Amino acid sequence: MVVTTDFNITLTKHSKLADTSLQNIPFGKFFTDHMLEVDFENGEWQTPQIKPYQPLQLNPSLAVFHYGQAIFEGIKAYKTIDGKVQIFRPYDNFNRFNLSAERMQMPQVPEEIFMQGLGQLINIDKDWIPNLENHALYIRPFMISTDEAVGVRPSDKYKFMIILSPTGPYYANPMRIYVEEKYVRAVPGGIGFAKAAGNYGAVLYPSAQANKMGFDQVLWMDAIEHKYVQECGTMNIFFIIGNTVVTPGLEEGTILEGVTRASALTILSEMGFEIEERSLSIDEVIASYKDGTLKEIFGTGTAATIALIKELTYRDYEMKFDVTSWITAPAIKQKMDAIKNGTAPDTHGWMYSI
Ligand SMILES: *Cc1c(COP(=O)(O)O)cnc(C)c1O
Repeated sequence: MVVTTDFNITLTKHSKLADTSLQNIPFGKFFTDHMLEVDFENGEWQTPQIKPYQPLQLNPSLAVFHYGQAIFEGIKAYKTIDGKVQIFRPYDNFNRFNLSAERMQMPQVPEEIFMQGLGQLINIDKDWIPNLENHALYIRPFMISTDEAVGVRPSDKYKFMIILSPTGPYYANPMRIYVEEKYVRAVPGGIGFAKAAGNYGAVLYPSAQANKMGFDQVLWMDAIEHKYVQECGTMNIFFIIGNTVVTPGLEEGTILEGVTRASALTILSEMGFEIEERSLSIDEVIASYKDGTLKEIFGTGTAATIALIKELTYRDYEMKFDVTSWITAPAIKQKMDAIKNGTAPDTHGWMYSI
């Protein structure tokens, strides 16, 4: 990595690493010694700061607290079996971040700040990447509006940050999913394709209702007819019907374009499946379940990679699956894991070394 941007770096005098056990460390609860912080002021990005992980001092009138201009990303870095540090497809996340920024009327983050910031920060905190099977370093870039004024309008000031969180295996047990017909996640013309904070605040209530009924997650339906499949919680969703893979398409802008989704599609087509990115009605899902052609259903996302769905409930109709007999979804996960830990060749150029 060639560094072309000036970084202002202050290292911690008290690393927390010696006091932190990385073995089976829970997702998203522990953070490394350093963070990246860059302010946007007077129309330009200021010098990026890498400094000890610490609280921010923020004015209560800060725009983001009131009108929610906030976006984020989720990326993972891995240590390969021979100790190299590699990040999975970070340019895809960088591009998606700036798409989210545009939709939320926030400034574009330049590539050198996002990518070199990521590289510099991870290099400093690389000892925090667990050298253990199925462990990774979760990378959380985010941006907030920071004008100190109450009034609905785009901010003049923004703050871009990256924080890092070591994480252990994400034991995604096969999930029980409830088809949600009342509440919706995204509407055409809305912000469903953006990783904008407000999308996540809005799904907590319906998800909690489904949890009360004993489900792990909801399957979102389209906002107009409540009939077409969208996403499963905060994961993209895949259906294997016969020798065809069906996953909702992206044209309407109501679905988050997952990096794991794109990677799964590539692997599935290499495995010889027909791929159909199109709208899929819940009636078609039920019909394929009834005639026995519905083979596997799974979700994709950075945290879990591939999450199997063992039960799908629509109103009072339950579709149940014996996931222990599934071949394809586990094979995708195994192929992705092998590329990430360096035991299989990275033929797609997905891994970014620092
Ligand atoms: C982040 C996210 C995904 C998965 O995207 P990846 O890039 O695969 O991690 C899917 N759906 C929603 C709503 C998300 O926020």
